[in-house]
Amino acid sequence: MTVRAGREFLAIPGPTTMPDEVLQAMHRPALDIYSKEMVELTDGIMSDLGRLFATTGKTYIYIANGHGAWEAVLSNVLSRGDKLLVLESGRFAIGWGNAARAMGAEVEVLRGDWRRAVRPAEVEARLRADKEHTIKAIVVAQIDTASGVVNDVEAIGRAVKASGHPALYMVDTVASLGCMPFEMDAWGIDVAMSGSQKGLMTPPGLGFVAANARALQAHKRANMRTPYWDWSEREGSEHYRKYGGTAPVHLLFALRQAMDMLFAEGLTHAFRRHELLAEAVRRAVAKWSEGQVIGFNIAEPAERSNTVTTVLVGGGYDPAVLQSYCKEQCGVVLGTGIGDLHGQAFRIAHMGHVNAPMVLGTLGVIEMALVALKIPHGRGGLDAAIQWLGESVTP
Ligand SMILES: *Cc1c(COP(=O)(O)O)cnc(C)c1O
Repeated sequence: MTVRAGREFLAIPGPTTMPDEVLQAMHRPALDIYSKEMVELTDGIMSDLGRLFATTGKTYIYIANGHGAWEAVLSNVLSRGDKLLVLESGRFAIGWGNAARAMGAEVEVLRGDWRRAVRPAEVEARLRADKEHTIKAIVVAQIDTASGVVNDVEAIGRAVKASGHPALYMVDTVASLGCMPFEMDAWGIDVAMSGSQKGLMTPPGLGFVAANARALQAHKRANMRTPYWDWSEREGSEHYRKYGGTAPVHLLFALRQAMDMLFAEGLTHAFRRHELLAEAVRRAVAKWSEGQVIGFNIAEPAERSNTVTTVLVGGGYDPAVLQSYCKEQCGVVLGTGIGDLHGQAFRIAHMGHVNAPMVLGTLGVIEMALVALKIPHGRGGLDAAIQWLGESVTP
């Protein structure tokens, strides 16, 4: 027996649920890529990207996913043989570092742990020890979508500054932009990158980069530059060059709509919505954890992100069986454990176009799966989530 029908619900950390308005925004003919309307669309989006990243620096749009945006950043600021310091807290900064190594950089990983955030003091100590300034850039993910951790990139920025080290500070915001505060300029971040398909509620296929004056200075010396990614190739007023070729017209229609929705809601409100819904998820997981089989991957409550929760499954139970029940019987798709957590965890995404019924529905389905599969768990997870939201969201 199943109780699924209609639209399958994605609770995975990307691509996320797209609002109907975003889907509809793409249902129209293409525009002439040289038309005034198109040029204005690009100008508006580029300036709104600056607003999202909170920077007065330059912004760039690539027809690429997050991996492409990583490569865009690296190729524009590094030279072969430059040393990159990777701050580990899961999978994604490591992945960015792997790309840099393949492109000819020397990569050093500041060892972290899949169960906790990067420690700013360790970053400062490592930079202070680099007296010769061999480290040219530092990369970190604001939220690591594999471990579910949120890094305090503001505090890491302070640590970089306190060390007096000149390395560029570069942050991956693929799983956090539009979902939680990010202040590129105020936090001393030189380069930030993101993608369209997570908090920004848009189809996969757009990669975003923002660069400040220090990064543009480093760009002049960088020898990893290649034509498509190259910031200099995108200079000037010619619209065609802003995309290194044809503009991704329909993805831009979608992004425009998604940004309009985000700004109409208000960023502060959107951040608070994420915080409230994430806490609802955590209240439920905390209850289930009382059965000693389910648990949080991130040990410290304050380091659990507001966009994705990584849930460990122990006691010999297979998370894939639970995920399969949720999908096949109920039509809810959960994220799978990836990297070090393969076969040991599932992930609940709560980023982008999410609301109370989506989150409560997802939690209800997971709790239903725990019952159906006889996985030991503390009762009342959904009830704890409802209690939290009922107390926090008042008329
Ligand atoms: C999803 C993700 C990426 C990779 O993005 P793709 O679009 O899959 O290439 C990079 N960093 C973080 C933090 C992510 O969550």
